Amino acid sequence: MGAELFDVVVIGAGPAGSAAAATVAAAGHSVALIDRKAFPRDKLCGGLITGRSLRYFAEIFGAPLDVTPLERRAAITFQFQGRPMGTIHDAPPVYLSMRWDFDHHLVKQALVRGAVDLTGQEIAEVDLAARHVVLSDGRRIGYRVLIGADGVNSMVARTLFGQSFDHARIGFGLEIEAPANPRAQEMPISVDIAAAAWGYGWSFPKQGSTTIGVGGLLAENEDMKGAMASYLAGQGVEGAAKSIKGQFLPFGDYRKLPGKGAVLLAGDAAGLVDPITGEGIAHAMKSGQTAALAAVGAIRSGRPEHALTAYRRRLRPLHRSLRAATLLRHLIFRPRCRRMFETSFRNSSSVRRQYMELLAGELEYGVIVKACFRRLPRILRLLIQSKGVR
Ligand SMILES: Cc1cc2nc3c(=O)[nH]c(=O)nc-3n(C[C@H](O)[C@H](O)[C@H](O)COP(=O)(O)OP(=O)(O)OC[C@H]3O[C@@H](n4cnc5c(N)ncnc54)[C@H](O)[C@@H]3O)c2cc1C
Repeated sequence: MGAELFDVVVIGAGPAGSAAAATVAAAGHSVALIDRKAFPRDKLCGGLITGRSLRYFAEIFGAPLDVTPLERRAAITFQFQGRPMGTIHDAPPVYLSMRWDFDHHLVKQALVRGAVDLTGQEIAEVDLAARHVVLSDGRRIGYRVLIGADGVNSMVARTLFGQSFDHARIGFGLEIEAPANPRAQEMPISVDIAAAAWGYGWSFPKQGSTTIGVGGLLAENEDMKGAMASYLAGQGVEGAAKSIKGQFLPFGDYRKLPGKGAVLLAGDAAGLVDPITGEGIAHAMKSGQTAALAAVGAIRSGRPEHALTAYRRRLRPLHRSLRAATLLRHLIFRPRCRRMFETSFRNSSSVRRQYMELLAGELEYGVIVKACFRRLPRILRLLIQSKGVR
């Protein structure tokens, strides 16, 4: 039996895959959206939706995200290894979601535009030579362009490059859903900027539960469970060890080559997570859309195997921004700089505001890099002084 043929096959129906499938379908091309899970489904995540995510959503799906199921928060409390650093009440707003609802909403957007629903289907094999994927029931689904939006443990990336990610550079997050606080709606979100090494801790009070987690570079956190236990104790949550879940997070480990020929990787599969804030939803949606546009262009020109070249060109601004963030994070996370960062954070309302704007997806890294260059002599002086202190 021959394979059913689609212009584009998308594996993974998270934010990257749904955005990709919706974009291909809206351009009038055939697209299959495959996910091993049937939706709604859970995904380990803080569920924090930034202004950037809202902007991308509106751009990709052609209408603003209905924010009523989301919970708006404009107050944020900061800590440094449990030590309070104050609350800011007029932060740029962020929105709290449960991925169960959010991702289901995105999948529906893709299906309503005409993507063929192959969710709830396990992939048995990706056959690059034959340009088809095989479902576990034996069905073969052919493609002109394949988009791997199958998350951090991407099977498509593994098929192309031998591994889904680089173990030496990957991040890891631990999270629980603790009972909801009855006053959740009035509570600020809380961030401990040093709850983990090269990472941070978060507590997001939602109406249905409180999402609490720590995350950071795996190689720098030998005892991530210990960091989580301390953070939970500081948040007054006891006896939750059994319900803690963990997942890899491509925290500053983006793929310079996000695919091969007619096979593109998007979202976590391409490592597109902010290396300072851990934000991944916005970049997943944007890269899904970008991959889809590259795929459509390559198919229309009759050269699907040129999709990667177009995709890389379109991804340049995002890669540039992630590169800048990867550089900047040394000033925040490197042990020698941490003390200086804590002092600046405590004493400077503009540093706190910039950090909040970053978290809320309202500030681009290019702006911060330029500001850092202006302050370079002062930063170097402080670094030399801090060497004496340590
Ligand atoms: C603990 C933690 C907290 C986080 N908090 C936030 C946050 O608050 N805000 C934020 O913006 N980002 C956050 N992130 C990052 C965010 O979750 C990811 O960046 C985002 O989900 C990436 O979207 P994606 O579509 O690329 O992948 P995913 O959302 O992971 O979706 C991939 C999909 O592919 C499917 N799939 C995988 N393998 C296969 C297969 N072989 N066959 C078929 N289907 C397959 C999966 O079932 C899944 O549905 C967090 C991450 C972690 C780990």
